Amino acid sequence: MQRAELLGRLESESEWDIIIIGGGATGLGAAVDAASRGYKTLLLERYDFAKGTSSRATKLVHGGVRYLAQGNIKLVMEALRERGLLLKNASHLTRTQPFFLPVYSWWKKWYYGIGLKIYDIMAGALRIGKTRMVSKKTILQNAPAIARKGLSGGIRYYDGQFDDARLALNLAQTAIEQGGTVLNYMEVRGLLKENGKCNGVTVVDSLSGKEYEMKSKSVINATGVFTDDVLKMDDHLQHKIVSPSQGVHLVVDKKFFPGDYAMMIPKTDDGRVLFAVPWHQKVIIGTTDTPVGAPSFEPRALNDEIEFIFRNVNRYLTSDISRQDVLSVFAGLRPLVKVPGQKNTALMPRDHTIIVSGSNLVTITGGKWTTYRKMAKVAVDNALFVAKLERRACVTESLRVHGWLSENNTDDPMSYYGSDADAIRKLEGQNPEWSEKIHEAHPWIKAQVIWAVRQEMAMTVEDVLARRIRMLFLDARAAIDAAPEVARLMAAEMGKDESWQQQQVNAFTALAKGYLL
Ligand SMILES: Cc1cc2nc3c(=O)[nH]c(=O)nc-3n(C[C@H](O)[C@H](O)[C@H](O)COP(=O)(O)OP(=O)(O)OC[C@H]3O[C@@H](n4cnc5c(N)ncnc54)[C@H](O)[C@@H]3O)c2cc1C
Repeated sequence: MQRAELLGRLESESEWDIIIIGGGATGLGAAVDAASRGYKTLLLERYDFAKGTSSRATKLVHGGVRYLAQGNIKLVMEALRERGLLLKNASHLTRTQPFFLPVYSWWKKWYYGIGLKIYDIMAGALRIGKTRMVSKKTILQNAPAIARKGLSGGIRYYDGQFDDARLALNLAQTAIEQGGTVLNYMEVRGLLKENGKCNGVTVVDSLSGKEYEMKSKSVINATGVFTDDVLKMDDHLQHKIVSPSQGVHLVVDKKFFPGDYAMMIPKTDDGRVLFAVPWHQKVIIGTTDTPVGAPSFEPRALNDEIEFIFRNVNRYLTSDISRQDVLSVFAGLRPLVKVPGQKNTALMPRDHTIIVSGSNLVTITGGKWTTYRKMAKVAVDNALFVAKLERRACVTESLRVHGWLSENNTDDPMSYYGSDADAIRKLEGQNPEWSEKIHEAHPWIKAQVIWAVRQEMAMTVEDVLARRIRMLFLDARAAIDAAPEVARLMAAEMGKDESWQQQQVNAFTALAKGYLL
């Protein structure tokens, strides 16, 4: 995946079939869908792939137990089906995750047990494990950190778990393999129009400053919480449709929640669910639901949200987690679509919304990572319809995502690379220095940085430490310590000088401080 080579295609292509704005889950899914149907496809991402919400999820491939409780059967059925497909098509990045829902009164065991049994049955042929009521002993044997006082047992159920930013990256690679063109650091600044119909975009390459006008038969707006900015480019009188809602996660050492199980806390102070999920040898705890005014690319956790998580999770743990135990804190913004009269974001629907403007601009927003494939299909179908493009069938139901492997050893720290892992090991053979770790406390090695630059379109130190490897999200202090070495390795690969290295380290350090408590 070479950015310079892909940029060259912009000069040679006079008109695209479909341009997609936004390189998160939704946009990248649309790029894979459109390219794999054989359309001339271009995706433009303002920063890096998954820089927005799509790197900041709870990392669950799930139907959404909470939405079942809210009676949103259609969303849960659809998400459970998509969960099953994703576990098959991206087996190197996803796995089945067992959960305990601990209960402290006998009737709740029945209440939640029946609900989760229904959840399990709703997955139909794509079921991934049987829901069962379990004893206190079983819970404590497998998840010894769960508070034992008053525990009357619980429910064991199964959902999926994944690496969100790496899936985004692998989708970008899949789209390119299918003939699409996918570029990061390309900001769409305006829409081109002819006779009131949208027929392209104006773009700036934020790395070189070069401007482009790209013509296209159709344009898809997949910009998440920035949806309204693009809608305004289309019609400056357009009212806002997105209500961003912030969710915060804390990452702590595995010692606070040892074992392979995740935990679902069914009811927090504000009536939500809270998860503690093992991820890359650490544990993610979250999340919150806080309405925010204007969207930002680097949302920050509020003190109240952090205290909320501590208060709720510590009730369920044998020993308390406190501020000094947090390795990283990250926040993401849900692109929820406004409902007239509804101010509580927790009650706003999680389904996706599609809007076709009078100019033929197709906007898709909302939804979940889990349902990205279905959303992509709907967006592309609408784009084809308005642009009167020849209709070709969607093939993504069984399309394998780049890196797919039939067997994956999840104990191997390289397992997330799937079929690319061997090529990274070969790099280690080429240069013994590249087998060295970039930080003594973590498994990541220098060859992964080289690979990120050569094959994964990493352009900045942040791209590597936040999204190619997930160090920023797993241990922000260690990521700050590793930044100078990552900058040095990148500079050697990219032909950059010392001032570039210094600028990168300074920018990354400033950003990463926001992930420390
Ligand atoms: C706290 C939290 C936890 C979540 N947990 C889960 C979970 O466990 N499982 C699950 O299935 N879902 C989860 N979700 C939902 C899921 O993460 C989102 O639905 C999904 O990531 C949204 O993807 P998107 O592509 O629509 O938006 P984004 O990922 O935000 O992508 C939009 C992209 O558009 C780009 N962009 C904006 N303006 C422009 C422009 N002018 N030109 C070019 N590019 C532009 C941005 O840079 C951004 O990268 C969670 C969400 C949150 C907030």
